[in-house]
Amino acid sequence: MFFPKDIGIDLGTANVLVYVKGKGIVLAEPSVVAMDKDNNRIVAIGAEAKRMLGRTPGNIVATRPLREGVIADYDVTEAMLKHFISKVCGRNLFFKPHIMVCIPSGVTTVEKRAVLEAAIQAGARRASLIEEPLAAALGAGLDICRPNGHMVVDIGGGTTDVAVLSLGGIVLSDSLRVGGDKFDEAIVRYVKKEYNLLIGERSAEEVKIRNGSAMLQGPGDQSVEVRGRDLMTGLPKNLDITARELQEALAEPVSLVINTIKTVLERTPPELAADIVHHGLVMTGGGSMLSGLDALISKETGIPARLADDPLSCVALGTGRALETYEALQDHLVVLRKVM
Ligand code: ADP
Ligand code: MG
Repeated sequence: MFFPKDIGIDLGTANVLVYVKGKGIVLAEPSVVAMDKDNNRIVAIGAEAKRMLGRTPGNIVATRPLREGVIADYDVTEAMLKHFISKVCGRNLFFKPHIMVCIPSGVTTVEKRAVLEAAIQAGARRASLIEEPLAAALGAGLDICRPNGHMVVDIGGGTTDVAVLSLGGIVLSDSLRVGGDKFDEAIVRYVKKEYNLLIGERSAEEVKIRNGSAMLQGPGDQSVEVRGRDLMTGLPKNLDITARELQEALAEPVSLVINTIKTVLERTPPELAADIVHHGLVMTGGGSMLSGLDALISKETGIPARLADDPLSCVALGTGRALETYEALQDHLVVLRKVM
């Protein structure tokens, strides 16, 4: 008997997650690839490559092939996708799986085909794509198949995607090229401007996660240490940065996210808008875990915002649910069968 394994992949701008039917999420690694510039060879992929970001010798560069929600480097994306598939399935695929990939919303039709091709080349029997808001909603456990309006806000590394769903489909959506990466960059800029201290994006991400917030819950005096290079002396220096300062640094990109949600709400048909007011909106993606962001969104839009149970895994779990209910969802997916 032939029992193909079905595989769902969240090809995110910050993280790639792989879901295997019957097993759950089996792999979660950063979407980072380290290359040797001299011979264009890949040195490391995933967690190992992320450790090299910003600290590589001259000839090795660590890159993020899907920055800003688009495929910045197709060949590297393909190599990364194949690497993760073979890591999960082994090199010789005896059971050719059905692979469903969720890609960032900014990806073009040509790139979509390229991703499908890469999955087929990596050994898939069949490759499908699923739109991100749909996967995020399924993974967050929303019952999107009824004639009820739901709103999903997915804040990833490169983009924020806001969508209204009903009857198993996307009624309207908008995508903004602001996400966790822009939050980190805002912190880098703030520290440079206020303290003349240059910090790396990885350090900025770390302080964002540990002490950043969109809305303060108290005076915001608690501080964490950040290391960088003093631009006056050129020497390494440490600095304590408070939650209040981080909130100020993050205010601009956060307001862009909120404005996008407001714009989508304004365009939402009244019946669906009434449903959303009733159910509230659901937040997914790692960026939505920024402290106080749910509270700020609720306050600014007047709609209760709820963080999904496992924001980082929603999309991957959603591909899993989509694989299980594939027939019913087929109308909403792009399918490419291998032409022999
Ligand atoms: P993508 O779908 O683009 O791969 P993810 O959903 O994996 O993105 O989210 C990655 C982003 O989430 C990164 O920018 C990361 O810094 C951010 N992030 C992860 N955990 C937290 C946290 N606890 N607080 C704030 N941001 C977080
Ligand atoms: Mg994502």
